[in-house]
Amino acid sequence: MKIGVIGGGQLGRMLALAGTPLGMNFAFLDPAPDACAAALGEHLRADYGDQDHLRQLADEVDLVTFEFESVPAETVAFLSQFVPVYPSAEALRIARDRWFEKSMFKDLGIPTPAFADIQSQADLDAAVAAIGLPAVLKTRTLGYDGKGQKVLRSAADVTGTFAELGSVPCLLEGFVPFTGEVSLIAVRARDGETRFYPLVHNTHDSGILKLSVASSEHPLQALAEDYSSRVLKQLDYVGVMAFEFFEVDGGLKANEIAPRVHNSGHWTTEGAECSQFENHLRAVAGLPLGSTAKVGESAMLNFIGSVPPVDKVIAIDDCHLHHYGKAFKVGRKVGHANLRCADKATLEAQILKVEALIAEQ
Ligand code: AMP
Repeated sequence: MKIGVIGGGQLGRMLALAGTPLGMNFAFLDPAPDACAAALGEHLRADYGDQDHLRQLADEVDLVTFEFESVPAETVAFLSQFVPVYPSAEALRIARDRWFEKSMFKDLGIPTPAFADIQSQADLDAAVAAIGLPAVLKTRTLGYDGKGQKVLRSAADVTGTFAELGSVPCLLEGFVPFTGEVSLIAVRARDGETRFYPLVHNTHDSGILKLSVASSEHPLQALAEDYSSRVLKQLDYVGVMAFEFFEVDGGLKANEIAPRVHNSGHWTTEGAECSQFENHLRAVAGLPLGSTAKVGESAMLNFIGSVPPVDKVIAIDDCHLHHYGKAFKVGRKVGHANLRCADKATLEAQILKVEALIAEQ
């Protein structure tokens, strides 16, 4: 089976690493000459709106999937005429726009921060009056890793801020005084069967994910699965979806969804019986889903900007290096380390060792 992937970054690369043993081949559509997934499959180097290359991709593959959600709607519509596309155009439409996303949560009875659609500075002033400060202004589309957003703490932060974010449609959200951030990785098959990985506790630095730790029997697991199931059913979703939640007042508020494999699920490569990457491919290909059970205690640490010396990383017991083969650049995710340990105490000690290597960079 040949899988077409829109996007050729590290997520595409890890999909190919998981799918190759299943006998799958891969073609990646990505305009970047140095797309790091290209090492694992065919690289169609073209813009996402290039219909000649989209047609070529559709002719060559059995199905198409995505490694990022900001794919133009026309690209999905065009491809869908010729080849099955998972997840659906509707799932991408909702997930790439924070207004649609939060409105869907609200319609499904899933708690979220207070939110308002912002089309002008006047809308922003009115929404701040209604929601109060502190609040977070985010562009409705194309934001990631904390980009395209600003925390508003005082009236001075509000003045001129709509223009500062580019005068594009935005969402204002009430600031959530969360005690933690967790994510749930779910996978749903074509026949509706759904499986969930254990909740992951995430720590960010300047909006970029730094550390994910897989939990054991988290008290909010059942609630997170309930909220996530509502979304998956509503969208008749196929594939892996990530749900990000704030932990607040002993409950959960939904922050966002990602209709794809997700950074906070990277630990599953060594830490779960079947990884998020393999399960995504199983789901979209119509194959039986694999077990989402955790194997030991697991964590993932991102390498941002550079990868510490390979020999030092792999000298740490229980440590598995994933190097994306990308050029090093400040703020760019260029690799990660997965830790899989027998017990929590060992995991905590090994996390400190990897963090010490990162700090030496
Ligand atoms: P996002 O791009 O929406 O995932 O936001 C990036 C990070 O900003 C989140 O992981 C949180 O740490 C923080 N953040 C986003 N929205 C809020 C909010 N409404 N209240 C408090 N912190 C937030």
